[in-house]
Amino acid sequence: MKDSIENLRDVLARQRAACLASPYPERWQRRRALKEVREALSRYQDRLAAAMSDDFGRRSEFECKMLDVMFPALQIDHALANLRRWMKPQKRHTDWLFLSNSAKVVYQPKGVVGVIAAWNFPVVEAVGPMIMAIAAGNRVMIKMSEFSSRSTLVLREMLAEIFPQDQVAVFGGGVDVAQAFASLPFDHIVFTGSPAVGKEIMRAASANLTPVTLELGGKSPAIVAPSASIAAAARSIAHGKAFNAGQACVAPDYALVPRDRIDEFVAAAVSAFQRMYPDPVGDPHYTWIASDRHATRVQALLADAVAKGATVISCGTGNGSHVVPMQIVTDVTPDMRIMHEELFNPILPVVACDSLDESIRYITARPRPLALYYYGADAGEIKRLERDVHAGGMTINDWAWHVFQGDLPFGGTGNSGIGSWRGPEGFRALSHGKAVLKMRRWFPIGLFHPPYGTRVQRLISKLFLGHPDPALNLPCSHESEPRRYGSTAQDTSREST
Ligand code: NAD
Repeated sequence: MKDSIENLRDVLARQRAACLASPYPERWQRRRALKEVREALSRYQDRLAAAMSDDFGRRSEFECKMLDVMFPALQIDHALANLRRWMKPQKRHTDWLFLSNSAKVVYQPKGVVGVIAAWNFPVVEAVGPMIMAIAAGNRVMIKMSEFSSRSTLVLREMLAEIFPQDQVAVFGGGVDVAQAFASLPFDHIVFTGSPAVGKEIMRAASANLTPVTLELGGKSPAIVAPSASIAAAARSIAHGKAFNAGQACVAPDYALVPRDRIDEFVAAAVSAFQRMYPDPVGDPHYTWIASDRHATRVQALLADAVAKGATVISCGTGNGSHVVPMQIVTDVTPDMRIMHEELFNPILPVVACDSLDESIRYITARPRPLALYYYGADAGEIKRLERDVHAGGMTINDWAWHVFQGDLPFGGTGNSGIGSWRGPEGFRALSHGKAVLKMRRWFPIGLFHPPYGTRVQRLISKLFLGHPDPALNLPCSHESEPRRYGSTAQDTSREST
């Protein structure tokens, strides 16, 4: 398939025509398509893992299979188990005035969904939204990242075995193709990537009034509370930084640790990393930093921090370029790049925080994160974080596992994203919830028609609105101020008139 801009338009036109010809795939058709994808994932697992590893230079085969192949397979199992419930029209209550009529919401496929994937989990970011789009009865066009060209070829081959291009089509190509893709008049766009490019996507989509789901990133904090087991917290955070070499949107970005326990935390994190990866350079399961550009950035971030007074503790020996063991950074200050850019690598800044209040102040003074982690055992603290701190999602006493629950939505808030393609929320995001009201033929709706002023109309008006206040039927005073929400001041507007 050509990755040209003309071809994008041509495929969209064909998918749209196919939508018109078959606007509502039945449940058995959706189930069959999903089962075929699941079988293909199983058949292609080795080739997909090898292609992703080639794209990265080296990527853990286990992590490739567990996250990029098994995760979508489990997502399909969840969709198959819930599709009947998701698709079922939902009965709703009519308003009192319309009693005896019937109301429902019908979940209709939106049409053609455009999916734009990042490079860090190339298969899951393409296939995951596709699965939910198919479950919701849509057709799908996928634009892969320019950093995952080998994965693109294998994924395209795999999906072409199952789907004609007017149902699912995969595109590669550079940023120019991605820009043209984002400007197509899709019925929905699911984008995974950085907040900066997310804004470009939203701008392009706005020209077509295309709704968007933006799966973005940010700096996800890990709070280590005084009640935490330092060893367990350090092991979990080290795993989060080592998995895919920290190149995960929900990796713990930095840790907030009580000042007097930082040394203990650092020692525990170093030893946890070294137990998992005693030889990062030789270990085929330690993933590389995916490109020269990203590897150079890691060194630049560390150099900037050191120049501004930070201390760097390396958890092992790297190779000076793409193999970077976890780098713990202490004595950090807000002016360092590592403290305001999303890291997306194995650097772990440690911030001294002596109370939950201090941690909350630190987090809420910054853009809303994609994930929030709490290590500790204080139920009151957990409740405060659940209710008072904005974050896309939360795992307590570990990292990222909330993302793997098929029944939970996964998505950001504020700078970390808009909407979700996972769970029941995902099905609804990729469907149009159409309100349908069926009026009984005998329902006396004519009572509301003009000429107005009938006795029944006056009665209804009185019943629902009560009596008007004659004092308010006076000319408006420009001097009277509207009462502010939450204000305790006396309303003096009547006195002033
Ligand atoms: P990116 O924003 O640079 O690129 C993402 C995709 O957008 C790529 O396919 C790219 O080709 C395309 N693109 C780039 N410029 C574009 C433009 N002007 N118009 C249209 N498309 C364009 O992100 P990345 O480097 O691929 O991925 C890293 C970022 O993604 C991080 O911020 C990370 O947190 C985030 N991420 C989020 C999730 C999530 O689910 N929330 C998952 C993975 C990665």
